[in-house]
Amino acid sequence: MSETKKFDLAVIGAGPGGYVAAIKAAQMGKKVALIERKYLGGTCLNVGCIPSKAMLASASVYTQVNHAKDFGVNVGSVSFDYAKMTKRKNDVVEKIRTSLGGLLKSNGITIFNGDAQFTSPNSLKVLGEDEALISATSIVIATGSEPVDIPAFPCDHKLIRNSTSILELTELPDSIAVIGGGYIGCEFASLFIQLGVKVTIIEALPSIVQAQGKTVSSALTSAFKKQGIDIRTNTAVETIEKKGDSVTIHLKGGEKLDSGMAIVAVGRRLNSKGLGLEKAGLTVNKMGAIEVNEKMETAVPGIYAIGDITGKAMLAHVASHQGIVAAANACGQAAHIHYNAVPAVIFTHPEIACVGMTAEEAKEQGYQTSIGRFPFQALGKAVATRETDGFAEVITDKQTGEILGAQVVGHGASVMIGEMGLAISNELTLDCIADTIHAHPTMPEAWLEAALLANDTPIHFPPKIR
Ligand SMILES: Cc1cc2nc3c(=O)[nH]c(=O)nc-3n(C[C@H](O)[C@H](O)[C@H](O)COP(=O)(O)OP(=O)(O)OC[C@H]3O[C@@H](n4cnc5c(N)ncnc54)[C@H](O)[C@@H]3O)c2cc1C
Repeated sequence: MSETKKFDLAVIGAGPGGYVAAIKAAQMGKKVALIERKYLGGTCLNVGCIPSKAMLASASVYTQVNHAKDFGVNVGSVSFDYAKMTKRKNDVVEKIRTSLGGLLKSNGITIFNGDAQFTSPNSLKVLGEDEALISATSIVIATGSEPVDIPAFPCDHKLIRNSTSILELTELPDSIAVIGGGYIGCEFASLFIQLGVKVTIIEALPSIVQAQGKTVSSALTSAFKKQGIDIRTNTAVETIEKKGDSVTIHLKGGEKLDSGMAIVAVGRRLNSKGLGLEKAGLTVNKMGAIEVNEKMETAVPGIYAIGDITGKAMLAHVASHQGIVAAANACGQAAHIHYNAVPAVIFTHPEIACVGMTAEEAKEQGYQTSIGRFPFQALGKAVATRETDGFAEVITDKQTGEILGAQVVGHGASVMIGEMGLAISNELTLDCIADTIHAHPTMPEAWLEAALLANDTPIHFPPKIR
């Protein structure tokens, strides 16, 4: 190996946490190294957010075309080519990955392709394509996570797949069992049911998307049941038996379920193995996470951790925001992260988005709440576009009117949630929303109406009987 290369900042992992941290530090005039062992863009771009949404976009077009008649549009017989959908998804990923490479280059960041390992708290060894020794004033760990493999039913990536290998599928089976009803499992369930596959969700907890609270969970459960998804909650899988070109899933209690394929979506393992953390003086907690404070500092001065590896909200936009905070602190500019207004979107059909507290969390924290829930059936735009399934809900502090949380189920939820994220992070009240002129006819008018409802002064909804 050649002589040690010196940098102000070295970032391990080029996912949405790592590459954003690298760009931010480069903008602040620092000499930055970015080390990645697989692909630029990490999980999110290559096997997560983007490819799954590209597939869901194809399914959504198919669903819409199937309903063309309802809009007075006649089309011939409708069919799809799943292999072409997968190819389109690959093209989308490739295109963004190429742009990202250009963006990093334009910021003067030095990229090393290889596996990084600590040799001391401020030095790294890179093994692989670009072998190198690196020393840096600060180091950011952004190594992300990978799908968990369950020893009782390991993935063979053919009949038993995980969230990565399911994205490589080019031919659909007749039926799919999704093991795990979290947001990743539910997004795949939504993709396949829209394409006519028989879908069963098997979830060990009492409800699907339980982490998102009761309102969201029951809305998605009833929408999925209406679409024909078989949802088995409080149900654990014991083993999966492979039988020729299908599987038999053995459930706890003795029941068996036959399926063309199984997807295991039960959680993520944090990537700290092989990093040589002991050489840096770092440890991981019980969950495998590297603990950090609100400045993204670890227990060792000069070493920061961001993204999934911190075990906080495991979302791409959280990783990116943490990356900006870590880079700013590493460059001598104080920055902190707050998690009170983190939006989370589930890109199912219908879409679901939440930010801030759920009604249950607000209650647990001792708030007396006032809740306004406005159904899309009463919204002009929703009726005009045939998107009346869903609602927008605001959860507020009854005493001050401050918005504590918001949830939206239905068309455009992922776009709508931005307004409430801004409201919560700026401690806005119901009156601020009610006094804001919302364009008509649009879906965000539902926030105005939900705010009026929480204030008990609805315009497009019957008054409460007093
Ligand atoms: C199917 C799926 C769908 C998802 N959809 C969404 C979504 O819609 N919205 C959302 O916000 N989030 C979504 N997520 C979650 C999101 O992808 C992650 O939260 C996000 O990618 C985490 O970013 P990160 O930078 O922490 O790590 P990652 O994106 O995992 O990147 C870490 C990188 O570090 C590299 N690395 C690891 N160890 C080393 C090492 N020793 N040396 C060099 N490189 C190393 C890895 O190869 C990887 O490229 C989804 C995830 C999945 C699986």
